[in-house]
Amino acid sequence: MTTPETTVPLWETDHLYYCTEGNYYRNGNHLTYDSWADFHAEWGRLDPDMNLVFRWDWDTPDPTDYCPPDCAGHDDGDCDTAPGPTLKVFWVLQRKAILRSTECAITEADEPAVRAWLTERAAHMRLLWEPLLPAPTTPAPAAG
Ligand SMILES: [Zn+2]
Repeated sequence: MTTPETTVPLWETDHLYYCTEGNYYRNGNHLTYDSWADFHAEWGRLDPDMNLVFRWDWDTPDPTDYCPPDCAGHDDGDCDTAPGPTLKVFWVLQRKAILRSTECAITEADEPAVRAWLTERAAHMRLLWEPLLPAPTTPAPAAG
């Protein structure tokens, strides 16, 4: 499958509103991972109905929210340097009515794998909302 020229990189996608990490009613429902691979090993192949993805956000921290590179160190050397981008994924464990979230460190090199995985989740979400949505604009793969 080729990607059209007009495809917006996931890191340039800015979704409406936001979702708070974790769960209002329970602690420990926001899990973090050091890499896409670590995240995917644990969450990538879970059943899409029991672990429904309803939102994702590729978050790139705003450097202006952190110390500049030439920061003098606030007299204590305790600088607040900008972390790298992360992928946040928001889940509903439908069978147990549990809301939870995951966050993994991510790089632009991960984008094709992330896109493929999210596309599967999007297709699954579409199933729950048919027949309200227009038909997909991309042709289905030929049978056979
Ligand atoms: Zn500083």
